[in-house]
Amino acid sequence: MPGAHLRATREADALAGLRRIDRLSLAIDSISRGLLELAWPTRCVCCELPHTLLCRDCDEALPRIAADTACPRCGVPFGAVACTECWTADGQVPRPFESARCALEFNDASARLILAYKDGGERALAPILARLLVEALDSELLESSDCLAYVPASSEALRRRGFDHMERIASEVSALTGLPCLDLLVANSRLDQRELSREQRAENMAEAFELLEGVDEPPRRVLLIDDVLTTGATLTAATETLLGGGVERVDVGAICRVW
Ligand SMILES: [Zn+2]
Ligand SMILES: [Zn+2]
Repeated sequence: MPGAHLRATREADALAGLRRIDRLSLAIDSISRGLLELAWPTRCVCCELPHTLLCRDCDEALPRIAADTACPRCGVPFGAVACTECWTADGQVPRPFESARCALEFNDASARLILAYKDGGERALAPILARLLVEALDSELLESSDCLAYVPASSEALRRRGFDHMERIASEVSALTGLPCLDLLVANSRLDQRELSREQRAENMAEAFELLEGVDEPPRRVLLIDDVLTTGATLTAATETLLGGGVERVDVGAICRVW
């Protein structure tokens, strides 16, 4: 079958050609990245040291929250049993999530990290932020959770930023921990929480999320993550949606704690 042989040869030639083009474009890509790095070096988001996104000194100086002194219910860095926000004169303040762990206190450095990633286009910070979050999660929590879920960006935020910042971090956290990451939530249209008062935040959040269609068998225990925990309104709303959808228990994790 000389015809078939010729066709196979041509196909093999075409494939080899495509592979060469692919290798060439990879090489051009890496050269242009190298040139860009020479002309405009990556700089530490905290101290501007060149050729790193977060230098070792700035990484070590980040205000990490020690688990043994933090409030286990809301993640603030004081109140090892429960803080005064979680335990008032009337008893334990109800929260839909079982526990909260936060990696960093809010200060200039942690704010810079989050902002550079979310709004400054430094998407390469995702693995660094994921690593900081994972460092703060204890192994017992990771072992007892069935899966990971994240607070999804609203459609306005997606349009503005061009990416879902927590989706990317969740996939990095999943790679680091081995916990499967499930798309469980969709965000409805809402106002930017940063511009609202505490009362307005709760109102804005009431119908902020829905369970993604097609989730027939919800996981039993979910570890839900977000970038910043402030009043807890966002994580409360997302947790309530998960519990309403049949999830039995939600624990939360956030990179930064503002209080
Ligand atoms: Zn630095
Ligand atoms: Zn607390």
